[in-house]
Amino acid sequence: MKHRVRSIALICCCSLLLVVCCFSTVLLIRSRKELSDTKYNLDQLESRFASYQTSYKELEKRYDELLLKQDEKLTNTLNFYDDYIVIVPKGNCYHQYGCYDSITASGEFDVYEVFEARERGYVPCDCIDPNMILRYNQQ
Ligand SMILES: [Zn+2]
Repeated sequence: MKHRVRSIALICCCSLLLVVCCFSTVLLIRSRKELSDTKYNLDQLESRFASYQTSYKELEKRYDELLLKQDEKLTNTLNFYDDYIVIVPKGNCYHQYGCYDSITASGEFDVYEVFEARERGYVPCDCIDPNMILRYNQQ
């Protein structure tokens, strides 16, 4: 009788062990599948990220080029104004933009080309670039 009980207990333990092994195997297979799926998704995300990085760098390069062109255009415009346009507030002098802040801050000033300011009898302030005066004297 004892031998039979031991055999039944042994069979039960072996059966339980077999169930645990099968269950563990199923879990292991599922885990590997999930790991494989996760790795695939990660590869996909890394590929998309690399694609976005490439697009970002291309856009950044185009933006820098446009910014450079815009900067060059603005610089040329400002150089034109610095070379040809003067500001005449109250008084008898003409000035370059930025000579002193109160000229434009007051809002009471006129804007002329250099030759026109000279024709009207205005004289250059010390802020006027001597090259501007030489250029106009040569004309
Ligand atoms: Zn001035």
